[in-house]
Amino acid sequence: MIELKNVSKWYGSFQVLTDCSTSINKGEVVVVCGPSGSGKSTLIKTINALEPFQKGEIWVDGVPVHDPKTDLPKLRSRVGMVFQHFELFPHLSVTENLTIAQIKVLGRSAEEAKTRGLKMLDRVGLIAHKDKFPGQLSGGQQQRVAIARALSMDPIVMLFDEPTSALDPEMVGEVLDVMVGLAKEGMTMMVVTHEMGFARKVSNRVIFMDVGGKILEDCSRDDFFGNLDARQPRTKDFLNKIL
Ligand code: ATP
Ligand code: MG
Repeated sequence: MIELKNVSKWYGSFQVLTDCSTSINKGEVVVVCGPSGSGKSTLIKTINALEPFQKGEIWVDGVPVHDPKTDLPKLRSRVGMVFQHFELFPHLSVTENLTIAQIKVLGRSAEEAKTRGLKMLDRVGLIAHKDKFPGQLSGGQQQRVAIARALSMDPIVMLFDEPTSALDPEMVGEVLDVMVGLAKEGMTMMVVTHEMGFARKVSNRVIFMDVGGKILEDCSRDDFFGNLDARQPRTKDFLNKIL
């Protein structure tokens, strides 16, 4: 479904991604962790071409992201992305937030978009809030709307970049619950997170990145958490700090 081959990226002379290769199969949940500045956000954003890269290849469902001829807006419309900060449109109601991209990007009718959007809103447990504005919702609720908005576009894969790290602790669980549900339904997901409980519960694989944008580990969840002796010293160090 997603394949990265030797992806490298530089900011001037600073190398932010170094020969990153991995693949994600349909229905897999891959967690990406690692220290601050190791390039996790950069890596995940290369997949929907929000970050350009100078070397390597990325394929998303057979579409070459590295090919200048690729229709990037079309690609992005099929790749759902949820960020740390919810980035809802503050001046639009929840329902309008859910429908605008469906109408403008996918060309759905207002009615069709509303039906789909409200179905996804119901799924994240927020149908009662459909007419509110983002500012009237808690952080956890806003993030769940952001997830519903991404799902409304019928994505083939969902990318999450630290979706819970800006939330008050009591709201983390409600967002993770929605993500666990998605994972269990077979959504293909790549999730940058330090929530190791989530990684343990639903991930198939864990990628550990280290400074310089290197993929240091790419292994099964069971190996990552259960076979610590086989891990790199940097990984052990990181796990000791956060577990
Ligand atoms: P965090 O855990 O703090 O979110 P991260 O692993 O997501 O970190 P990135 O945001 O991908 O890391 O950044 C990787 C490196 O690239 C960092 O050293 C960062 O300072 C650098 N970087 C990011 N954006 C730019 C930019 N526009 N120009 C120059 N350097 C940048
Ligand atoms: Mg980041």
